[in-house]
Amino acid sequence: MGTLDGKAALVTGGSRGIGAAIAHRLAAEGADVAITYERSAERAKTVVDAITGLGRTALALRADAADAAAVAAAVDRAAAALGGLDVLVNNAGVFPVGPVADLPLVEFDRAFAVNVRAVFVATQAALRHLRPGGRVVHIGSNLGERVPRPALSAYAATKAAVAGLSRGFARDLGPRGIASVVVAPGPTDTDMNPADGPRAADVLALSAVGRHADPADVAATVAHVAGPAGAFLTGSVVTVDGGVNA
Ligand code: NDP
Repeated sequence: MGTLDGKAALVTGGSRGIGAAIAHRLAAEGADVAITYERSAERAKTVVDAITGLGRTALALRADAADAAAVAAAVDRAAAALGGLDVLVNNAGVFPVGPVADLPLVEFDRAFAVNVRAVFVATQAALRHLRPGGRVVHIGSNLGERVPRPALSAYAATKAAVAGLSRGFARDLGPRGIASVVVAPGPTDTDMNPADGPRAADVLALSAVGRHADPADVAATVAHVAGPAGAFLTGSVVTVDGGVNA
């Protein structure tokens, strides 16, 4: 028996990194899972095959998070395929890096479209399908709370915005029995922030544990929030950063 037996989940940006780990963990807890992706069709298929191998239903949908119509359509298709929704994980994200003097406006706009606007769009679409007891989990960042290094203003602002959206969603959706929670990772070993990358030493300078998280560490917290143990969490930001913001 898993903590999510009989549940249906959609994870945006589930083809790689943290999203793939979340999709796999939710399926291991018993959920059927849909994922979205932008470009990585092969890697999305690998995630779907792994989940199918666990005996669960899985599907992958191409949907650019910057395209609101595509996001809403993917939510509807996922709900149709899985018979409704219990969990939405807004995970898809991009990581613009550059000081305010240099960061191109096009990167700023793209980051807000993918990291913020898509969260609003996907949540709005999911409300057509989420059952009472449903959970909306947003992948924020410890950088949404503190910005300990330069060149991160745009990214940090998107994640602070996600925390604001989530608090507001918690107020809007509480009466419907739907929770909204941010899981805010710190440095996590993915393509976005590789543990062996050139920025790793800077990234870990403030870490209390001196290493990147494994994506599975973040996925475990998402499973907690999405499962019975998370029943009274809403409006919260759960930071999973190895003490970077301590
Ligand atoms: P990766 O770059 O490893 O993976 C990003 C995922 O998001 C991929 O599945 C990618 O799809 C998808 N994605 C990106 N852009 C779009 C888009 N426009 N439309 C649809 N899907 C898209 O990132 P991580 O796994 O590291 O990050 C996942 C989340 O965690 C992000 O929100 C990120 O900001 C956050 N985060 C990450 C941290 C880290 O240290 N890694 C720390 C704190 C927060 P495709 O494969 O098709 O490109």
